[in-house]
Amino acid sequence: MTTSHYIAGRWVEGQGSDCITVHDPALGVPFAEMMAASVAQVDQAVAAARDALPSWKALSAGTRAAFLRGFAEQLGQRREALIALQMRNNGKPRHEAEIDLDDAIATFAYYAQLAEQLPEKNREVPLAAPGFTARTRLEPVGVVGLIVPWNFPLVTSAWKLAPALAAGCTVVLKPSEVTPLIEQAYGQIADTLGLPAGVLNIVNGKAETGAALSSHNGLDKLSFTGSNSVGSQVMRSASAQCRPVTLELGGKSAIVVFDDCDVDQAVEWIVAGITWNAGQMCSATSRLLVQDGIADALLPRLQQAMEKLRVGNPLSEEVDMGPLTSQAQWLKVASYFATAREEGLQCLAGGKALDRDGWFVSPTLYADVPKQSRLWSEEIFGPVLCARRFASEEQAIAEANDSRFGLVATVCSADLARAERVADALEVGHVWINSVQAVFVETSWGGTKGSGIGRELGPWGLSGYLSVKHVTRCLG
Ligand code: NAD
Repeated sequence: MTTSHYIAGRWVEGQGSDCITVHDPALGVPFAEMMAASVAQVDQAVAAARDALPSWKALSAGTRAAFLRGFAEQLGQRREALIALQMRNNGKPRHEAEIDLDDAIATFAYYAQLAEQLPEKNREVPLAAPGFTARTRLEPVGVVGLIVPWNFPLVTSAWKLAPALAAGCTVVLKPSEVTPLIEQAYGQIADTLGLPAGVLNIVNGKAETGAALSSHNGLDKLSFTGSNSVGSQVMRSASAQCRPVTLELGGKSAIVVFDDCDVDQAVEWIVAGITWNAGQMCSATSRLLVQDGIADALLPRLQQAMEKLRVGNPLSEEVDMGPLTSQAQWLKVASYFATAREEGLQCLAGGKALDRDGWFVSPTLYADVPKQSRLWSEEIFGPVLCARRFASEEQAIAEANDSRFGLVATVCSADLARAERVADALEVGHVWINSVQAVFVETSWGGTKGSGIGRELGPWGLSGYLSVKHVTRCLG
């Protein structure tokens, strides 16, 4: 049993009724347990954040920046433990766990820098009208609830915590019940750094705890990353209180491959876009649109590349892809394999769970998938790629945009003018051209349509936690 909730600067045991069991997905066995936070403990966490707000926001931006640099440094000092825990609890291959940690470190360092620049943004506003002066003040929005999923726990939490703390907000973070141990590091670091009590609170729990936080009337804002179904519940809670909400939701993103591409290079980008984190990425490019002239050469190479991937336990084998992170996710992906069989889809690779302990599935490729197939339109959240062919640039754009989601896309073409043109026409929040999914802290993250509301990362991520105030004075 782990003591697991960080409230008002103290570690406390959960008083809720749910027991959270933490699993090693490569073996399918539990290795830790904790009691969820009760609704009363969520109240305490929100109250602690409220109490801490006045003095935290009154600190100089430079002092807040120093704390953020401390988070970056302390994450680095816990490097081996954090990599090992992500490998064990998420099933991430070592190199992916390392990249997640580096991303979290870079996020804290970046927002430290932005926090230092904040005072310069409070400035006089030139007015055309005589007799008045006006100035801008950027103020923290206040107490913020942060709810995150399990697929990139260190990263999604860093993308919220760092800008919120930089802005001068105080927070209550609710990690996913699937991976509740990793974010404990943020509480331990707060302790080590002497972060004022109540500035960062962490409550663990399942849906009940999440709902208690998202509907809490002591919040000034909620920032949520997760599924569309929970996102819409969170949005309803926010609307009941007319409260701002940021939503980072699901995706069914396209990768568009034109026939002037180098086939081997395209295969590398396609495979990375669907098998990184075992396909459990909101940004997985799970719809492959391949131009007629290259499809017959590309699909067999893609099939070989997917079949060659080493799938296994990252803690005991050299692997390219680990297991799915939870049994629920494994059952969900298996149900799509069954649907594919019922729909008679043409399976070129995988299409099955692995016959071994743990929650493994094969990297999977379906070819010539009809538009009406559920596998073409629904987010599966596993290493399952569906391919369709297209003839013209216009058709590729129309098919890529024909989705309720709009998170990301990738365009592969040797004709850069065309690639840029297609990137401009895609209805998504982020496009990669001839690249793996490289994410930089300076660029924005977030989607259009059903993929969410608002942006994280870059200056946009900070703006989400700031409120603009103008002070206008009459000179007469
Ligand atoms: P989920 O929606 O089931 O859970 C997300 C979080 O919400 C968890 O902490 C969960 O405990 C909590 N929760 C559950 N029920 C709740 C309720 N009724 N009220 C409030 N909180 C509640 O999502 P998941 O399965 O953890 O994550 C997978 C989903 O997240 C996918 O759809 C994926 O696309 C999405 N995602 C999006 C992004 C992005 O940046 N757009 C990033 C990562 C994941």
